[in-house]
Amino acid sequence: MASWKILITDGLDEGGLAFLRQQAEVDDINGISADELLRVAGEYDAMIVRGRTKVTAAVFAAAGRLKVVGRAGVGVDNIDLSAAKEHHVTVVNAPVSTTVAVAELAMGMMLSMARELPRADASMKAGKWLKKEFEGVELYQKTLGVIGVGRIGSAVAARATAFGMTCLGYDRFLTPDQIRTFGLKPVSLEELYAQSDVITLHVPLTAETRGMIGAAAFSQMKPGVRLICTARGGVIDEAALLTALDSGAVASAALDVFATEPPGLTPLVSHPHLVATPHVGAQTLEAQQRASKDISAEVMAGLKGEPLRWKVA
Ligand code: NAD
Repeated sequence: MASWKILITDGLDEGGLAFLRQQAEVDDINGISADELLRVAGEYDAMIVRGRTKVTAAVFAAAGRLKVVGRAGVGVDNIDLSAAKEHHVTVVNAPVSTTVAVAELAMGMMLSMARELPRADASMKAGKWLKKEFEGVELYQKTLGVIGVGRIGSAVAARATAFGMTCLGYDRFLTPDQIRTFGLKPVSLEELYAQSDVITLHVPLTAETRGMIGAAAFSQMKPGVRLICTARGGVIDEAALLTALDSGAVASAALDVFATEPPGLTPLVSHPHLVATPHVGAQTLEAQQRASKDISAEVMAGLKGEPLRWKVA
């Protein structure tokens, strides 16, 4: 057996760990601090992280024998990709493992807002029976606007279609025919804003998408629109969202991701018409098992110089 050493910094489901341990020495230091990571980085041939660990330029500089960094999930915004390139380190992720989990969370958020489930539950727990106050709306025959028709966006559209919703899709990098293939009607961003009862965001955070949902976008949306973001904090201008919730321009919003995480008890988080979850999109048993299996196989392939399915850098 080659004497590879692999560091796991944010935990990994047992399936992937067992696979790695058959082929390498594995240190599972869940929750390792930034200082400790810098101190030990030089010992490892590979690292597997989730979103918590910041793999900075300093970590790459300290990690003399590092060959592969694996992200057990999708977003690689916590990994300095240009430093990885500079140090000839391959970065891989497990992009398909969490699609269903995030799509199901978006559906849960849609239903939570339509039927006010969090507030109804809180009122029962406060000993109240506020039946009349919780008249909701149906999703049936409503229009859903999907911004970013990738893996998760298209999976949400498939589920929303089953609820009898009409799905509009806007994606900067897909052709109208590609969007139609996923069962959505391709539209411009302006049309999507004007026609959607619910808007769900599934774009990555890039220079272009940062703050794309702000005051100008809200002013083009249907009054009383509902907004879902399970993508990345930063895509929504949170101050503008708070104003839109206060005025009723946005009837309700559901956020799994925040510009700063954790955000604390901000006016936005505590707003009665905001459903907030602590970045749990990928937090299902099945998604974590899949992510563990996928990233372990990919990292071992990277170490062995075999073909890679999900090379990010
Ligand atoms: P994906 O790459 O399959 O899809 C993203 C889509 O967005 C692509 O089709 C791309 O063409 C499109 N896009 C990019 N820039 C755009 C722009 N400016 N305007 C319109 N469309 C644009 O990614 P995915 O796997 O579907 O993930 C989507 C998002 O969900 C990512 O931000 C990812 O980080 C996030 N995510 C969150 C969680 C969570 O825990 N909440 C878990 C997994 C993924």
